[in-house]
Amino acid sequence: MSLANGRTYLAIPGPSAMPDRVLRAMHRAAPNIYEGEIEVLAAGLVRDLKKVALTKYHCGIYISNGHGLWEAVNTNLFSRGDTALVMATGRFGHGWADYARQMGITVEVLDFGLKAPADAAQLEAALRADTDHKIKAVFVTHMDTATSIRNDIPSLRAAIDAAGHPALLAVDCIASLACDEFRMDDWGVDIMISASQKGLMVPPGLGFLFASDKAVEAGKTAGLRTPYWDWTPRLFPKFVYEYFGGTSPTHHMFGLRESLDMIAEEGLENIWARHAALSEALWAAFDAWSAGGHDIALNVADPALRSHSVTAARFGGGNAQRLRKWLESEAGVTLGIGLGMAEPGTPEIDSFLRVAHMGHVNTHMVLGVIASMEAGLQALDIPHGAGGVAAAASVIARHSK
Ligand SMILES: *Cc1c(COP(=O)(O)O)cnc(C)c1O
Repeated sequence: MSLANGRTYLAIPGPSAMPDRVLRAMHRAAPNIYEGEIEVLAAGLVRDLKKVALTKYHCGIYISNGHGLWEAVNTNLFSRGDTALVMATGRFGHGWADYARQMGITVEVLDFGLKAPADAAQLEAALRADTDHKIKAVFVTHMDTATSIRNDIPSLRAAIDAAGHPALLAVDCIASLACDEFRMDDWGVDIMISASQKGLMVPPGLGFLFASDKAVEAGKTAGLRTPYWDWTPRLFPKFVYEYFGGTSPTHHMFGLRESLDMIAEEGLENIWARHAALSEALWAAFDAWSAGGHDIALNVADPALRSHSVTAARFGGGNAQRLRKWLESEAGVTLGIGLGMAEPGTPEIDSFLRVAHMGHVNTHMVLGVIASMEAGLQALDIPHGAGGVAAAASVIARHSK
């Protein structure tokens, strides 16, 4: 017997749950890719993506996952030998740094480990030390999906300004856009990247790049540009073929149209508040489970530094992996593996997991995950404090008042 038969729930940090509305919008014949409907569609997507990023500047869409967008930023900003400063707060920051290094860019890394946010004072000091302004851009993840650390972007902007340094600020919002508060222009961000399969609720396959006028200007001399990744035609298309450097991703565009409509209907502020409340419910469950000295813990101790779209946690002694397996076979729930928290292939990595709560998620989905996890803890005799479900339910009740 398995109790998992029924609708399954992939609660990993991307691909996130796709709304039926999005899937239905994709279920149709392809349009003409040269003229007509497609032109209106492409222009409307760019217009509305900018509303989600809260920018008046430029937006380009790539047929790519998030990794490709790291490369898109690198090619459009740098020449071989130029320097990037990466503020790493987990695996994804290091990933962007690796891509840059492999492309011949000199990379300096400020590594804040796995539990701390990027520190503005250290950024300011690094930029002040760069007296001949070798550093062209500062890279940071808004929210590192491996550690679930959320970085304070305005504080980093302030540090760059305080140092009087011309470096551009480039932010990876792949896991946070349309989940966590992000304001590109108000926060002085020059470049932002995101992707379709997380907060934007569309299947994997589209990447989004936003660039300020300052970034576009700075990029004009970039020697690493290649024809497909060059952002110029995408940011400033003269005809529809230029938006995508070839055939349009027709069905992803229909899905994205629908998701952007859903985002507009709910409103960004409400979306941020929903993610905040659901995260708080999950954290309350963890507080109950870990009470009494059990080897269960959220990765990020300070709630103010935690992501609202994914939560990284530890269940010691390899129990994270046992719990994940139980949830898959008995509850129809798949949680994310631990990423970058220990060496892959070692027993230690089995003590980490991640719960995603990004995009198209609501109370019953998050409470369902929490209750399933609590059932798994009991079934597997994993020592834990009682009352996780009740604690989470109280948080939801409070937020609904
Ligand atoms: C998911 C993610 C990526 C990578 O995106 P892919 O689409 O898997 O290539 C990069 N950065 C962050 C912060 C992410 O969450």
